[in-house]
Amino acid sequence: MRLWSRELWRLGLLAGIGTLAGWPFSAPGLGLATGLAICLLYHLRQLHALHAWLTQAPRAEPPAASGLWGELFDRLYRYQKGQRLAQSRLRSTLKRIQESSEAMRDSVVMLDHHGDLEWWNSAAERMLGLQASHDRGQHVTNLIRDPRFIAYFEARDYREPLTLPSPIDERLILQFQVTLYGDDERLLMARDITRLHHLEQMRRDFVANVSHELRTPLTVLAGYLETYSGVAEQLPPRLARGLGQMQEQTARMQNLVNDLLLLSRLEIDRGGDDHAPLAMDALLESVRRDAEALSGGRQQVRVEIEEARRLIGSESEIRSAISNLAYNAVRYTPEGCHVTLRWKPHPEGACVEVEDDGDGIDPVHIPRLTERFYRVDKGRSTASGGTGLGLAIVKHVLLRHGGHLEIASQPGRGALFRCIYPTDRLSTPESITSP
Ligand code: ADP
Repeated sequence: MRLWSRELWRLGLLAGIGTLAGWPFSAPGLGLATGLAICLLYHLRQLHALHAWLTQAPRAEPPAASGLWGELFDRLYRYQKGQRLAQSRLRSTLKRIQESSEAMRDSVVMLDHHGDLEWWNSAAERMLGLQASHDRGQHVTNLIRDPRFIAYFEARDYREPLTLPSPIDERLILQFQVTLYGDDERLLMARDITRLHHLEQMRRDFVANVSHELRTPLTVLAGYLETYSGVAEQLPPRLARGLGQMQEQTARMQNLVNDLLLLSRLEIDRGGDDHAPLAMDALLESVRRDAEALSGGRQQVRVEIEEARRLIGSESEIRSAISNLAYNAVRYTPEGCHVTLRWKPHPEGACVEVEDDGDGIDPVHIPRLTERFYRVDKGRSTASGGTGLGLAIVKHVLLRHGGHLEIASQPGRGALFRCIYPTDRLSTPESITSP
């Protein structure tokens, strides 16, 4: 403020002196104009100095000046210095981040809010074939064109990673993970999981082959045991008992081998060839009949249909999933309980529910129920003919149909298994051509 009033004083003084100097010559106006012109010239000179400084040598010391101009130059100089410091700090942080990303073995690609490439590390050049010379600014789906990647990228649901072969080398198996950050920007990471993928494939093939190889000897054993059981009454009682147990265990092994083979098939082949709109009322009714036969009148099984749309899927796989849930409901509930098979609408699309009013399951077990061979009560599961693979099969069938399983249960209050299918898996009654 002090500088401002000094500046105003200076202007007033020059105007006054000019007017007074012009007075004796009867030209006070001319004097005033001369005073103001001197003032204007001074300011123009300072403005020129400022312009020359900012355009020619902005990093140099500011021009020497006093008063308001001096203050202005000083402040501008300090501001510029601060900005330069902040910029250089930012640059070095960015450089450090880029250097650490560069050292990573995983691909890191930064995308802007349109999904265009902004920056990537050298691993991304190796794994995804990105080229600094002409890929910057390109949309990511122009470079990774696999429809599965495009669907994953556009769905914006990045909770689960996506596994795909590299776009430049089919033998390289990559796991993609996208993270949203900042102003709708995305970070795409890709990991090379080729070794893990091969190991997993070997494990699946091994289980499938062993199960397959066991099938024939087991069929032969079961066949002979069946034949011998026809003459069991001629055997001493101890041998006859042994024969009965051998038959039981062989049947158990056969069930186990069949479930293992089914699970391997669900994991190995992609499926989709036999997908058709399924009449859920007929399907649930036929599962109900089988479940009732298994129950032998100990439980009551009923069907409720509240949804008109059909589910598009593989009949054998969907039947196997619902049967597994229905048989579990029969096997794990006491006599006199009720089991309901339901096909009904759901906010995500539609769902099959299998509900019972049996003893229920302690919630601590629920997160692990779909793991292979996980049983709440091993003795009871084995006694009831369970293989420990039922819910794992259900989970895989659902995965292959874009769905997921929800389990709700409280001890003593029964259990509810809900298989949820998304809308794009449903067909409206009008669009059905074949039953
Ligand atoms: P299992 O062949 O042993 O039945 P599953 O994978 O089908 O294997 O089921 C896993 C476990 O979940 C079972 O051992 C059982 O303890 C429990 N379970 C499944 N369904 C029910 C149900 N409706 N009520 C109570 N427990 C159940």
